[in-house]
Amino acid sequence: MSKTPFNADDGPQCSVSVLRLGHRLVRDTRMSTHSGLVARAFGATEILMTGADEDDTIRSIERVNSRWGGDFRISYSKSWKEVVKNWEGVIVHLTMYGQNLDLAIPKIKESVRRFKDRKLLVIIGSEKVPAEIYSMANFNVAVGSQPHSEVAALAIFLDRFFRGKELYSSFPRAKIRIRPSEREKKIEFGN
Ligand code: SAM
Repeated sequence: MSKTPFNADDGPQCSVSVLRLGHRLVRDTRMSTHSGLVARAFGATEILMTGADEDDTIRSIERVNSRWGGDFRISYSKSWKEVVKNWEGVIVHLTMYGQNLDLAIPKIKESVRRFKDRKLLVIIGSEKVPAEIYSMANFNVAVGSQPHSEVAALAIFLDRFFRGKELYSSFPRAKIRIRPSEREKKIEFGN
């Protein structure tokens, strides 16, 4: 499995996979695509979709990969349970019922370091999350204790985990690259 091109901390490199639970055809397509885009842009190595049969989500992310580069992978797995049961690494489940993100991150990093392959699985839900997930995860982590969205929770988790460095990662073989624009409008403070 390829590693992220930067360190999760000042320590050794690790790879982060995202498991998206319970994708429902039609209703969840946009959220699934956004989960994939966020996972890719915020430093994860891959996303595994589960639930409904494969749909256009996989093709949309592959199209983004081919134009914007990088080694991000997307795949489909029929059974989330198989993925979780066979995972050889740390498992985090993002849920509003979990422990505080800032308190959990150092413990998660320490646990990832102790695994030879330094792999982290981040589980995000969509519809009702099966109760077993809570006990199968090593850490249930809350991004605030209000209900919001798996896309927001994933973005904030990854950004805190990688301490913002993921925003500077490079995507090899990109056909398109943005040249950042510094166009700013002068502010009139009026004093
Ligand atoms: N009703 C669902 C349940 O049984 O948990 C939650 C649905 S919520 C729209 C979809 C997903 O967003 C959750 O499974 C969780 O992964 C994520 N999520 C929403 N709010 C969150 C929060 N405050 N902290 C962490 N993750 C959150």
